[in-house]
Amino acid sequence: MLSVEEALEAILSRIDVLGTERVDVMASLGRTLAEPIVSHRQIPPWPNSSMDGYAVRAADTGPDVVLRVVGRVEAGTLPARAVEAGEAMRIFTGAPLPEGADAVVPQEDVDAVDGRVSLRGGVDPAAYVRQAGEDVGVGDRVLERGTLLTAAEIGLLATLGHNQVSVHRRPRVAILSTGNELADLGTEPGPGQIPNTNTYSLMAQVLEAGGVPISLGVAPDRLEAIEERVRRACDADVILSSAGVSVGELDLVREALTRAGAALHLWKVSMRPGKPITFGSLGARPVFGLPGNPVSAMVTFELFVRPALLKMSGRRRLARARLRARALAPIANPGSRRGYLRVRLEAIDGALGARLTGEQGSAILRSMVAADGLAVIPPDTSIVPGDSVEVIILRELPSP
Ligand code: AMP
Ligand code: MG
Repeated sequence: MLSVEEALEAILSRIDVLGTERVDVMASLGRTLAEPIVSHRQIPPWPNSSMDGYAVRAADTGPDVVLRVVGRVEAGTLPARAVEAGEAMRIFTGAPLPEGADAVVPQEDVDAVDGRVSLRGGVDPAAYVRQAGEDVGVGDRVLERGTLLTAAEIGLLATLGHNQVSVHRRPRVAILSTGNELADLGTEPGPGQIPNTNTYSLMAQVLEAGGVPISLGVAPDRLEAIEERVRRACDADVILSSAGVSVGELDLVREALTRAGAALHLWKVSMRPGKPITFGSLGARPVFGLPGNPVSAMVTFELFVRPALLKMSGRRRLARARLRARALAPIANPGSRRGYLRVRLEAIDGALGARLTGEQGSAILRSMVAADGLAVIPPDTSIVPGDSVEVIILRELPSP
């Protein structure tokens, strides 16, 4: 049986990066940058004040010094003249520093009377001055290809005058649920039926990973039916099915994928939940057959499909953040497979503690709902309170 790392490597080695498109800068939020951004601007463009106050020559300042106020400069205007020895100029936040001045005295630190200001003390050169180019210089490489574009990057792109930007295409992911027992959303489950969960949790996971989900609905456990749905997914970049990948008589997904023309590369991975996971290629398209239990499907998506989608999207960083937390209660992982167990994180005395979210059955979706992360527990291991455990972070962390 493959380790999780071996399986992931086998998968990623067969994943190609998708092409690119230009989009409006606001439409690039959550997308992956496909070009490095080199600045043609200097930010700030000129030295300017970070306070409302008086532009001065630092060398002139000191306790009880009185300076003559020789003008006024507001943001959006230019100073009418330079500041000479013994002079000050009224200045507002963001206004260009006049020639001759090299510092600003905040207005709360002076007494202003009759066109003069008296200082209470000296200021250092550059005090309250934002220097030209201190944020970005001309020619600076400010963003790398492969960066996820978030609010800060969007702001920087706007600062640098980019209306549009080149990003990687979003992977289109066709999602198929299989099983005679499944009643789809909108129909009341009949006798012996259960609601279809995976189509929806997987579509949501695809969206969260920056992909575009396309539902192929539910196929019954018949070879031709599954094969026909898989063939229908011809304009998708990835095909994702769930259930029917074990060794039961009705576990037909692997054979149906093969019939549809897929070459299968791997099947079982040493992990809990979710041992049976199939990965193959249908032409150039990656195909995943995830296990059917809702938690197994979600966890195998996290570990294998998400990194694959991020790679296709051109992302440089594929892995979720991991951190170490102290176990707050026992965590047992009997058996020979590595456990990815659902934990809730709690901030205790400024440190993070982890405890299981409850019963860890692979069909217990509520323990996934309560989870902040997945604790990675080696095989045959009993964690006791106080032990350090590694946690893959799935959500925003609780604040200490
Ligand atoms: P299977 O691998 O087909 O034996 O499925 C494993 C378990 O997952 C069974 O209990 C199925 O009923 C359940 N299951 C399969 N697909 C879904 C789905 N789309 N939504 C909810 N449960 C499912
Ligand atoms: Mg089944």
